[in-house]
Amino acid sequence: MSGDDFVARRERMVREHVAGRGVRDPGVLAAMGRVPREAFVPAGLRDSAYDDGPLPIEDGQTISQPYIVALMLEAAAIRPGDRVLEVGAGSGYASAVASLLAAQVEAVERHPGLAASARERLARLGYGNVAVHCADGSGGWAEAAPYDAILVAASGPRVPAALRAQLAVGGRLVMPVGESSWQQRLVRVTRRDENAFEEADLGGVVFVPLVGEHGWAPGAGC
Ligand code: SAH
Repeated sequence: MSGDDFVARRERMVREHVAGRGVRDPGVLAAMGRVPREAFVPAGLRDSAYDDGPLPIEDGQTISQPYIVALMLEAAAIRPGDRVLEVGAGSGYASAVASLLAAQVEAVERHPGLAASARERLARLGYGNVAVHCADGSGGWAEAAPYDAILVAASGPRVPAALRAQLAVGGRLVMPVGESSWQQRLVRVTRRDENAFEEADLGGVVFVPLVGEHGWAPGAGC
């Protein structure tokens, strides 16, 4: 498939799967239209890069459905100058889109192979304001806190207190929360002041589990 075909498919994805479902933020729509999703999926799945769903990546993980990435980014209301944390970098796709909206993105991934390939891919594609860290991100990434926006791309039983603590006042955190592995609620937490957090339910979603100290039972990782 030629680059032009991918461009046409990407435009259609933004129009039909993202804007068509109600995402309005012009910055998010423009950023989704600029990031080549075909460069973030395994080589054998490039033809499916603009399908309306998640796709498998290495280590049994997934690259999220484009609509869900856009929904989370819109809910996080990222503005130029913002510092963003993404927990669960996976392929690096959502971090790449976020990096076009923000000043700096810290992306944490617990699988060493995924972290290394996301880092290499983001550098090769020129996303210079994303730093990929291989670590358990269920407790955030304290070194660069506080953040104006935190995106969690894996589902946990609750929003970890450590992540709330790394939100700047006025900051927004978006995360799938739930006890079940096949259905969770997408939750937005806004920090109103030092001690007050406001919560909104953004609807039902399905994500891979957040595995770590502040998520589900710790496993092997970075
Ligand atoms: N945003 C990604 C989606 C990746 S799926 C993309 O655009 O491709 C969620 C990712 O979260 C998986 O890669 C998984 O390995 C990772 N993950 C799960 N628990 C984690 C943890 N505690 N710390 C960091 N990453 C974690």
